[in-house]
Amino acid sequence: MASLSLKNIYKVYPNGFEAVKDFNLEVEDKEFIIFVGPSGCGKSTTLRMIAGLEDISSGELKIDGKVVNDVEPKDRDIAMVFQNYALYPHMTVFDNMAFGLKLRKVPKDEIRKKVEDAARILDLEKLLDRKPKALSGGQRQRVAMGRAIVRNPKVFLMDEPLSNLDAKLRVQMRSEIASLHNRLGATIIYVTHDQTEAMTLGTRIVVLKDGVVQQVDSPQKLYNEPKNLFVAGFIGSPQMNFVEAAVSVKGESVTVSTGDCQFELPKEKAKKVIAGGYAGKNVILGIRPEDIYEDQESLEKYADSKFSVEVSGYELLGAEVLLYFSLSGANMSARVGSDTKARMGSKIQLAINPEKVHIFDKDSELTIT
Ligand code: ATP
Repeated sequence: MASLSLKNIYKVYPNGFEAVKDFNLEVEDKEFIIFVGPSGCGKSTTLRMIAGLEDISSGELKIDGKVVNDVEPKDRDIAMVFQNYALYPHMTVFDNMAFGLKLRKVPKDEIRKKVEDAARILDLEKLLDRKPKALSGGQRQRVAMGRAIVRNPKVFLMDEPLSNLDAKLRVQMRSEIASLHNRLGATIIYVTHDQTEAMTLGTRIVVLKDGVVQQVDSPQKLYNEPKNLFVAGFIGSPQMNFVEAAVSVKGESVTVSTGDCQFELPKEKAKKVIAGGYAGKNVILGIRPEDIYEDQESLEKYADSKFSVEVSGYELLGAEVLLYFSLSGANMSARVGSDTKARMGSKIQLAINPEKVHIFDKDSELTIT
């Protein structure tokens, strides 16, 4: 069992800067929690408070139901893997992995067994006698993981562990970490800048901004039901399009319009807009690039929401193309099939799926629907 509980956690640095504000999170055993957010939002600070490397200014941190605010890092039963996995260059892989256990005066036989078990899990068995300089980046990263695994900690904390690796290795290590999580049944808290890592690894994602938790949800829920404009814009790449739009209400029908684009909201969404008192007001319309269509079939299906634009940018991504255009002064993008005939300067028609739009309050930036 390794549950974690953060209650009303604050971090105020000695210079008075509030880096983390009222952080609340209950982590269940075996969860894979991801912290994401822009640079400086407090991800590492929170991780370091959990590890005990940074004092908690106020609030309560529990591991397995026990308050550990004042427990030394080495006694918290937590292992941390950093992006600079600094291995000891003069030691073999075996000794690098065994080092922490030796310090703890674990008997030799036990150390050998633990290191060999971890090496098997990480596919390092044939490399135990090598020195770090004779390893690839991915292998070194696995040794760093091995050092954490041999300690059999209750919780793994990982601070951008893959950020020093090249793109190909990152993909490989990402799936290794996912299977490691399954095999070890470990509780993991993982900080990353990488959208794909967050979306593919996390059982839940914590989105932070300016030291404040914005939303905690499964990757899918964050993507489909962001609680505010910030989360909507932060999760997803390329990011959600935002444009100011006017709301007009006739009976139960709600029409949203911006520039040349006008469409009726589906019933459920319309109800929420009316209930919120947005009739006759301006809102922020959010629509993901993949929910804007250019193909003939969709233009017919969503004929009511058709609008014309001039393509101002074209980016071939492989199987898909990103078309850039402007709508009511906002820069937008649509993700369409690579068979599109549109190119820079083309005048094209687009349509959106009204079921997929997000509507935000212009001032509070909270999601209306
Ligand atoms: P990044 O993604 O860039 O690593 P982060 O989300 O991990 O960022 P933190 O390292 O947790 O951010 O820092 C949060 C905020 O606290 C930042 O604004 C940072 O400048 C500030 N900060 C960090 N350490 C200190 C310190 N010792 N004294 C004062 N402010 C600090």
